[in-house]
Amino acid sequence: MSPSPTLRDVPVAPDAPDALSRARMRDAFGRTISYLRISVTDRCDLRCRYCMAEDMTFMPRRNLLSTDELVGIAHHFIDRGIDTIRLTGGEPLTRKDIDDVARRIGERLGYGLRALNLTTNATLLDQHAQSLADAGVRRVNISLDTLDPIDFAYITRGGSMDAVLRGIAAARDAGLSIRINMVAMAGFNDHMLPDMLDFCEDGGFDLGLIESMPMGDTGSYRPRSHVAMDEFLAPITRDAIVEPIGHKTPGPARWMRIKGRNIRIGLIAPISHNFCDGCNRIRMGADGKVHGCLGHDAAIDLAAAWRDGGVEGLSPLLDRLMATKAERHIFRIGETGEHGPSRHMSATGG
Ligand code: SF4
Repeated sequence: MSPSPTLRDVPVAPDAPDALSRARMRDAFGRTISYLRISVTDRCDLRCRYCMAEDMTFMPRRNLLSTDELVGIAHHFIDRGIDTIRLTGGEPLTRKDIDDVARRIGERLGYGLRALNLTTNATLLDQHAQSLADAGVRRVNISLDTLDPIDFAYITRGGSMDAVLRGIAAARDAGLSIRINMVAMAGFNDHMLPDMLDFCEDGGFDLGLIESMPMGDTGSYRPRSHVAMDEFLAPITRDAIVEPIGHKTPGPARWMRIKGRNIRIGLIAPISHNFCDGCNRIRMGADGKVHGCLGHDAAIDLAAAWRDGGVEGLSPLLDRLMATKAERHIFRIGETGEHGPSRHMSATGG
């Protein structure tokens, strides 16, 4: 039987011959999957109240993919048509080999891979920004929910905002394009939106606004702070014209601008504005478990397959994942409480 087609020697040519189209992953709803988010570790140096419990139990280190395994599997995904990879976590920069992981995945840029991006809380970014840029990373999403150092220490259970600001400065110096990601929380940072808009506009950063998602038990009752995107934006839309723009990114953000201002705002509202029809992504955890949908616990285990049979064992499993990938998420959050997957966001990266 001829080995399954790969993209190793097929440069990025949209109309490349059959090998490309046969290799591409399509789910049962006809959606082409081209975007992979990899949580390279579920560990983090912060404990954000909407993401983690104070006393988290992390994956045993022996279950984590080694550098070679992670890079090998990532290369296979590229051979199966993944053209964008985002490294996430937990906090990816807490992983000791992160520069090596980024460099070795970055070697596929221009050879099946179009973009290698990173999501971080930036507390360690001043130590990695240049090496990430050298590896081919061009865009970083930085989680920052407030500009008030006291509120920051509260929401992160003890984090230092100075470290984040140093990280942002280092990313800018390394020429990385920056998007600030702010999780919308009623009664916590809804008053902070105008200042965050000014901060991003002055810095030349995009701003991503994200509705909270019910994943895992964090010890906080999320419905109390959950706010729908339109409501969170109301203080802005009341006095200004907010209009859609043609800007596109691999993820689900709907891009807007405020008339007369020089800032792009990406709205990610999985609860109030479902975007699953256009889903193009899957997620792999640091243990090699791949989830077809963020909003479901179902997963396949590529680590075991890789350790048993190397690359040969992966494609049949990915085909099964495509056949079973959910049409949409099961997130529910509101007066009646919340419902979502049992795992924490950090296990698979947002
Ligand atoms: S929630 Fe699931 S189906 Fe919806 S966009 Fe995200 S990954 Fe895709």
